[in-house]
Amino acid sequence: MADSDKVAIVTGAARGIGREVCRELLALGMTVVAVDLLEEKFPEMQSDLGSPGEKLDCRKLDVTDSEGFTALVDAAAEKYAHVDLLVNNAGITRDGLLMRMDDKDWDLVLKVNLYGAFYGTRAVSRYMVRQRGGSIVNMASYSGLEGNRGQANYSASKAGLLGLTKTTAIELAGKSVRCNAVAPGFIRTEMTDALAQQAKDIALSMIPMKRMGEASDIARAVAFLASDASSYITGQVLSVDGGMHT
Ligand code: NAD
Repeated sequence: MADSDKVAIVTGAARGIGREVCRELLALGMTVVAVDLLEEKFPEMQSDLGSPGEKLDCRKLDVTDSEGFTALVDAAAEKYAHVDLLVNNAGITRDGLLMRMDDKDWDLVLKVNLYGAFYGTRAVSRYMVRQRGGSIVNMASYSGLEGNRGQANYSASKAGLLGLTKTTAIELAGKSVRCNAVAPGFIRTEMTDALAQQAKDIALSMIPMKRMGEASDIARAVAFLASDASSYITGQVLSVDGGMHT
């Protein structure tokens, strides 16, 4: 199937990296089911992404809702007849030192970042296996590869995503369903805008290219892993981080 005929589901699509992923996939001609909690952003997304009409289908979903995620995938498959791509991008941080981290912040980050990706992956894989084709891209992080002070919950969730990525790739490869991860470094979005200046300075000092990345840098990598340009690549983690992880 041509990339322009594909149907993609993107989570955490309302802003930041997810919004740019939608832009890239729409530019490839794909139909994009854009999923987020922030329903109030949907009208502005439609105008920002060039009013692509039927090609952009915004839907409210909390990715921690297992049944809701399955229902959303079923509805998309019924409406469009196939589901070709899932980008598990929705993610949150609740930073704090390990010794002071409470159960709530641990659980919530694992729920959104890891459980949500599992719920979505399980739901789309049923269709992709039947179709004998599909691509899943998980939004991991440098933090999941290397760990990061103050992010025990976040780095554990992202490391878990890498395990999910590799096992999904192995289990589904025989049905031509691929699964890969992108590991961003330090990217300019509302998530990183919220950091204290000292934390930003420390992060910047770790980047060999000496600058933050842009959401579009990540979106182009996702588009590559989503498209047929990467048809023989599965189970891989692509770092997009200005040289932090080598
Ligand atoms: P962001 O906070 O700007 O956007 C995240 C989006 O996810 C928001 O629109 C939010 O509403 C949505 N979301 C959060 N919880 C959700 C839920 N339960 N259900 C549905 N949607 C939900 O963040 P971002 O910087 O664009 O990050 C996107 C992804 O990239 C995340 O997985 C993040 O961990 C990862 N990442 C970001 C950076 C960075 O430097 N910005 C680095 C590494 C990895």
